[in-house]
Amino acid sequence: MLGREVSVHAFGLVWLDAEGHMVRMNAAVRDWIGDATRLEGVLPELDAARWQAWSRAERAELLQMNLRRGDGSWMPVRLQLDPLPDRTDGGGFVMCVCPVSESSQRTAIDAIQRSVLEAIATAQPLAAVMDLLCREVEAVAPEVMCSVLAVDAEGRLRSLASPSLPVQYAQAIDGVAIGPKVGSCGTAAWRREAVDVQSIATDPLWEDFRALALPLGLASCWSTPVMLDDGRVRATFAFYQRTETAFADYHRHLVQACTQLCQVALLHHEHEARIERLAYFDATTDLPNRRLFTQRAEALLRQWTQDSTPGALLLMDLDRFKAINEVQGHAAGNEVLRRVAERLANCLPGMNTLARLGDDEFVVLLPHADRELASHTADAICAALSDSLPLRGQEIKLGISVGFSCFPDDGAQLEHLLKHADLALNHAKSDGRHCAKGFTAAMARELEEKSWMEAALRKALTGQELQLHFQPKVHLGTGTVLGAEVLLRWPCAGRGWVPPDRFIPLAEECGLINAIDAWVLEAACAQLAQWHADGLVLPALAVNVSPSRFQHADVVQHVQQLLQQHHLPHAAITLEVTERLMLDEANDRRAVAQLSALRTLGVGVSIDDFGTGYSSLSYLRRLPVSELKLDRSFVNSLVEKTEDQALTRAVVSIAQAMNLDLVAEGVETAEQAQLLLQLGCEVAQGYWLSRPLAPEAFGRWFMAQRAAGTALPV
Ligand code: C2E
Ligand code: CA
Ligand code: CA
Repeated sequence: MLGREVSVHAFGLVWLDAEGHMVRMNAAVRDWIGDATRLEGVLPELDAARWQAWSRAERAELLQMNLRRGDGSWMPVRLQLDPLPDRTDGGGFVMCVCPVSESSQRTAIDAIQRSVLEAIATAQPLAAVMDLLCREVEAVAPEVMCSVLAVDAEGRLRSLASPSLPVQYAQAIDGVAIGPKVGSCGTAAWRREAVDVQSIATDPLWEDFRALALPLGLASCWSTPVMLDDGRVRATFAFYQRTETAFADYHRHLVQACTQLCQVALLHHEHEARIERLAYFDATTDLPNRRLFTQRAEALLRQWTQDSTPGALLLMDLDRFKAINEVQGHAAGNEVLRRVAERLANCLPGMNTLARLGDDEFVVLLPHADRELASHTADAICAALSDSLPLRGQEIKLGISVGFSCFPDDGAQLEHLLKHADLALNHAKSDGRHCAKGFTAAMARELEEKSWMEAALRKALTGQELQLHFQPKVHLGTGTVLGAEVLLRWPCAGRGWVPPDRFIPLAEECGLINAIDAWVLEAACAQLAQWHADGLVLPALAVNVSPSRFQHADVVQHVQQLLQQHHLPHAAITLEVTERLMLDEANDRRAVAQLSALRTLGVGVSIDDFGTGYSSLSYLRRLPVSELKLDRSFVNSLVEKTEDQALTRAVVSIAQAMNLDLVAEGVETAEQAQLLLQLGCEVAQGYWLSRPLAPEAFGRWFMAQRAAGTALPV
């Protein structure tokens, strides 16, 4: 009869006549009310109208009211009325009076809190949690009917839970805009304060809704807004009653607890929604992330397969984004990403697959796009991104590279379309960026070739298939052989000689270069030591070292250990590095430290291809070098182009000013050699002197050269 959690310690009984006058009572009641005789005095809320309704109600109805005690204090009680059998005295009622103690109220509320919090913690849907809340409350206070309405972002009421209210009522309320005169709930949300309407029948706030509520038996309604930290009303929690009765203190405690629970449930729900959003959307650009893209794309591809329609996948990558991030900071970088996302969205209206895959990589699927339309769209995107972007008072020049692949010709699976678009994107990037490229079969062949070659190269390295050739470095004035450059050779089984210009970049790409460069150094030292043992006293060898070799901290130790092992002086080795080494700042510091240590030991450091790099000479001051190698391209056109002569003269002065050795490479004619000597560049390398030679051939060349003395025909 009472809520299951309410414990009853003592209860009273009052006998009433048909008009509701107290006829008799038990000791408990007498104890509470003293000598009071009139029911209205003891239970003021039970006025004549209420009594009429209560005593005539078909269903037994529990009332919760405050009982005025003999000492004037109030005691919350629950009342139940049972009709007496109609006897000669005209029948009457017996009223059961159960005190609801503070502690039992508390127990009831605690129990509601526990079960609702548990539902929240076990990730029940919001509507289910609210439904549970209503049912729990109604179980301890059966005289009320609860409703929870959400208030959406547009300020409309949305039905969440009202298990005991008529379904048609909840349906009619759903979508009603809140306002200053919209029943109890709509007004409470509008005013941001509780609205207590004792009489729906007469209260002006209900004017527009009473026709709906009254026929359904709703007589009073007290609604409380539920606000979250940001101050916005997210919901209303309401008690309805079937009679026009004021709400008791007990109800107030319940409402207070319930609005708190609503708050917790709503907060939790919003938090979960945020987490859900984070899981599927990129927080910076608000675009779908890779996860959502994959889901949507796979569904779309299934659709395309079913409908046999073409389509395309566009992969886009910002040019120079890394630089913006590094120079202007991450906040600026994020702003750029947001602007780019906006521009892309403008170019691709209604495409819900437009997504950010990673750092500065975006993707989209174009439905119904053949190769031509895909190419056209990709070009349009490049054009849209070529307009400069205003950023913090500056105009930023961006650019985007696009690679695309077509469904189903280039792949029917997302994985293949992505892979092929990526390949096309790489081509767009290596083609000078800011352009679009479609996937072609040739790209696939190239990729296949590359992966074949990578595997073959790995095998060659471990199988000792790689060889060293040597090209002498000669003093043009005296003909003295000062040393030789070590050049790697790969006689690939079934393919012939693969030029280093092809396999070195590949080795850098796939991370093999460190092992290769280390192997070259070891083999070079061993060869030089062998020559020395054979009486062929070549003073030094120059070994090419890739920039990525310096990402490893062991270069100094490695060189030192090899020289020691082969009893070679430190000056016997020169490392040739390129200006590329200085492009990566992190690498730069590590490289400078290692090269300085090597220079201190007496190991030579040479700048290869000097003059072709990014032409900032400032690194020459930071980089501890001992030699410059004038690039082949200068030597090539030296005889014809006076500018190149001037440049060569400039390099000669730089070398002299900085006390560096200078070597001209790629000398192919006597004229070039002569001119170089005139310009002040005395040391040279090139076909005119000797092609790179295998060790035995080099040995023979060296001995012949020694025998001929200084007789170089310069
Ligand atoms: P590089 O360091 O500039 O090497 C000089 C290149 O010019 C060599 O090509 C050499 O054969 C070529 N050459 C020499 N004299 C002449 C000439 O008179 N005319 C012309 N046209 N070319 C001449 P190679 O051996 O094909 O090497 C190409 C590049 O591969 C090298 O350029 C170097 O960057 C790289 N490389 C070679 N061996 C190694 C190595 O062991 N490790 C690393 N990391 N890179 C290497
Ligand atoms: Ca070189
Ligand atoms: Ca070179």
